[in-house]
This record gives sequence, C-alpha cells and structure tokens, in this order.
Amino acid sequence: MNAKLFDAAERATGIRQAVDRAIEQDTVQIYLQPLYGTKEHRIIGAEVLARLHDEQLGFIPPDVFIRTAEHSGTITQLGEQIFAKACRFAARNDLQSLGIKWLNVNLSPIQCRDNQMAEGLCRIAARYGVPIQTFKFEITESTLVYELRLRQNMEKLLAEGAILSLDDFGTGYSNLMRINKFPFGDVKLDMSFVRTYFNEANPLLPAMVKSFQASGIKTTAEGIETKDMVEALTGLGCDILQGYYFSRPLPEQDFLAYMQNQPQSFQ
Ligand code: C2E
Ligand code: MG
Ligand code: MG
Repeated sequence: MNAKLFDAAERATGIRQAVDRAIEQDTVQIYLQPLYGTKEHRIIGAEVLARLHDEQLGFIPPDVFIRTAEHSGTITQLGEQIFAKACRFAARNDLQSLGIKWLNVNLSPIQCRDNQMAEGLCRIAARYGVPIQTFKFEITESTLVYELRLRQNMEKLLAEGAILSLDDFGTGYSNLMRINKFPFGDVKLDMSFVRTYFNEANPLLPAMVKSFQASGIKTTAEGIETKDMVEALTGLGCDILQGYYFSRPLPEQDFLAYMQNQPQSFQ
C-alpha cells in the first residue's frame, strides 16, 4: 500500500473508532437550525443536525460520520441516540410557546431499511412522553429505492401523525413520478439547486415550487444566505426558508436564546 492510501485507510479506521466511542458513550450532540415561515414571518421550526466532537480527532463533519456509521452497521443505534436527544429537547422545553411547530429529524437511507425503524422511533418518543407529531422526518430520494420497507416504516410514522419531508431535492436524478407515490408533506430544495437559480435565473425552480404547491406539498428552500434570496424565494411561494441568513445550526441553549430574542432578528 502506498503512503497516501495508508493514511486514508488509517484515517477511516480512526473515524470508525471515534463513531464507535461516541455510540458507546452516547456523546453525539444535537444542534438546531431555525426554519423561517414565509407566511408567518417568524421561526416556526428547526432542523436537528448531529455533531460529533471526538477527543482525539476533534470535529468530524456529520456527512462523514453518518456515512461511517452506515458502512459499519451502527447507523440505527446512532440514529436512535440522535432521535432520543431530539425527544429530550422537546420534552424539556415548551416548543409551542417558543412558536416551534415541529422539529425536523434526518433519517439515513440505510436506517430506513430496518423494518423495526418506525417502532423504534415511536418507542423512544413515548419514553420521553413526546407525541410523534412533533417531528418531520427528512429522507433523501435515494431512500425511495427501498420501497417496500420504507413504505411500511413511513406508513407507521404517518399513521402516528408525523410528517414526511423529502430532503436534498434537485441534487440527484429527481424523479417526480417516484416522488409522487409517497405522501410527502414537504419538499426541501437543496442549496445547490437554489444557488443555480440565483446564478442564472431559469424557469425550473419556480415551476417546481408551483407544481408542489398544486399538489398541496410545502416547499422549503435551503442555503438562504442573503436578504435578496429571502425576498425572491418568498415571492416565488416557498413556505419555509433555512440558511445562515437566519442562523447557523446552534447548540440547544443557544437555540433557545435565539428563539427568545427572535423578533429583533429580522428587523
Ligand atoms: P442536510 O440534512 O441537507 O442539512 C443541511 C446542511 O446544510 C447542514 O449541514 C447545514 O449546516 C447546512 N446549511 C444550512 N444552511 C446553510 C447555508 O446557508 N449555507 C451553507 N453553506 N450551508 C448551510 P451539516 O450540519 O454539515 O449536515 C450535512 C448533512 O449531514 C445533512 O444535510 C444530512 O444529510 C447529514 N446529517 C446531519 N445530521 C444528521 C442526522 O442526525 N442524521 C442523519 N441521517 N444525517 C444527518
Ligand atoms: Mg436535512
Ligand atoms: Mg438538505
């Protein structure tokens, strides 16, 4: 093995060990990123984003450690620990009085292949006394490939009142027919798709927003960093906006402080 490959293999092993340690010690943290409602003119929800600070490797980006957990077969356990922390946050704080309608939680495609996933999530929510309607579950289009098991899992979550959200729309080979077969309440336009529209205006994004609207599906635009983007996407009819313009993902306490000072934030 040459030196570069050896380094890469060693780093991968290090990350796998860090993920195993985090699961064993239950140290993965959750951050929350505000979601702005364009009709409400205020923050109406938050996306739960996992964070891993390893004592040896430092900060490991979520897409890296999530992929590692998927490969090593620990994603279900990790996903449950993340969801338990989202439930704990919902149980400890009066979300309604903060104006929060739901928390978005990401589910990995591999996690969705587990036919006990929905039961597992419902059991955790029940343990914290949090209704499952508190959550929107974000899945990506690649998840739809595991159609049968996904459908069973989703039917259970939907029957309990959760909302299903399609994440990262516009990145892969989006197939509207396939999307149409699932009861998504919400579609999230990926930030690369949103950026492309702002780099050179084209009719695709407005047409997508309109067609989702016509199907009764809400749209969220990701990666909103400027006031111009807020105004343009609000004008196009997007329901929810997410991005650094409003806030970066925040640790629990900072998120609560942000919510309490929110009215000043957008003036
Ligand atoms: P995602 O679900 O699409 O999450 C949105 C990502 O965009 C987050 O990155 C967020 O920090 C980033 N973002 C939000 N607004 C802006 C903006 O205005 N500008 C820019 N440049 N970025 C913005 P993050 O936290 O690094 O997460 C990356 C991905 O990792 C997530 O993408 C999701 O696929 C995955 N992930 C994170 N937490 C979890 C989790 O708990 N479970 C699972 N299965 N996946 C997770
Ligand atoms: Mg997401
Ligand atoms: Mg996304």
